[in-house]
Amino acid sequence: MKKTVLAFSRITQAMAERLQHDFNVIVPNPKLGDIAAQFNEALPEAHGLIGVGRKLGRAQLEGAGKLEVVSSVSVGYDNYDLDYFNERGIALTNTPDVLTESTADLGFALIMGCARRTAELDAWTKAGHWQATVGPAQFGCDVHGKKLGIVGLGNIGAAIARRGRFGFNMQVLYTGNNRKTALEQELGAQLRSLDELLAEADFVCLVVPLSDATRKLIGARELKLMKPSAFLINIARGPVVDEAELVEALQNGTIRGAGLDVYEKEPLADSPLFKLPNALTLPHIGSATAETREAMANRAIDNLRTALLGERPQDLVNPQVWKG
Ligand code: NAP
Repeated sequence: MKKTVLAFSRITQAMAERLQHDFNVIVPNPKLGDIAAQFNEALPEAHGLIGVGRKLGRAQLEGAGKLEVVSSVSVGYDNYDLDYFNERGIALTNTPDVLTESTADLGFALIMGCARRTAELDAWTKAGHWQATVGPAQFGCDVHGKKLGIVGLGNIGAAIARRGRFGFNMQVLYTGNNRKTALEQELGAQLRSLDELLAEADFVCLVVPLSDATRKLIGARELKLMKPSAFLINIARGPVVDEAELVEALQNGTIRGAGLDVYEKEPLADSPLFKLPNALTLPHIGSATAETREAMANRAIDNLRTALLGERPQDLVNPQVWKG
């Protein structure tokens, strides 16, 4: 008998069709009523879950007695209570690698957008303010040749650093849990403590996973360590930064600007950030290109399919639960 797969966020028709070869697939449909109610009703029969952007732990999964695997269509897995998954023996998979380059592109777009004030000056132009040659009030600052500070030189951090080093002749500084000698050689990257990096870098780029160790990694103290001319770029997770302190730092000129893709609470609504011309705010689009989203979907399907058919999936986050 076919196992049952339940989607916990919107998945495409193509994804559902691929899964239907091997599984009964249930995709809650807003046209049929309350999505949460449909999800909870189907949960006891689900062997596998697939989706993104939803907190899953004891409270949500207690009724999922048959659950074997959760396949997240994301690389970050801070939404899942791993201790609970391990206690229950539920496998968790994610989609690393396939989104690295697209997310790095977006990180660099934020660096460029902040430095050259692209969104702000686009709005200014369209509002009809361009009546003479621009002056210092519209000037930005250079990116090439500046110091790029990467907090978390993992897959995406290294891809951003490559863009900075080889595309823009930037000096790369990094901080992290471990020394990365191969990347030091490839990129000329230099290891710093977090405090040293904050004090030196022109662009501080956050690319760490959200964990107890990284929650509010950047608060008032850290923002004060940054140069008033520096920019903070966050493409990691919102709670890595104390958002209220960031707003204050942007208002007071403690730092020059911020490029943000992620927020403490998403979707971002009614935020003081909306009133700040030196905050470039994007709606969590790091991996949001058609090509990359398709690659992520395929990777998540492969992981789910492999695991439910009894083989070890490629991207197992918690290998300790795998009994294969
Ligand atoms: P990764 O390859 O695992 O890299 C994460 C890096 O963070 C590692 O180098 C790790 O250092 C470092 N790190 C972990 N804890 C740290 C700490 N306390 N202080 C400093 N560095 C620390 O992951 P990735 O694929 O690059 O993705 C990174 C994160 O980006 C994801 O977890 C996700 O939250 C976020 N992300 C966001 C988007 C978006 O749409 N905005 C898209 C994709 C990913 P070690 O190697 O030394 O352990």
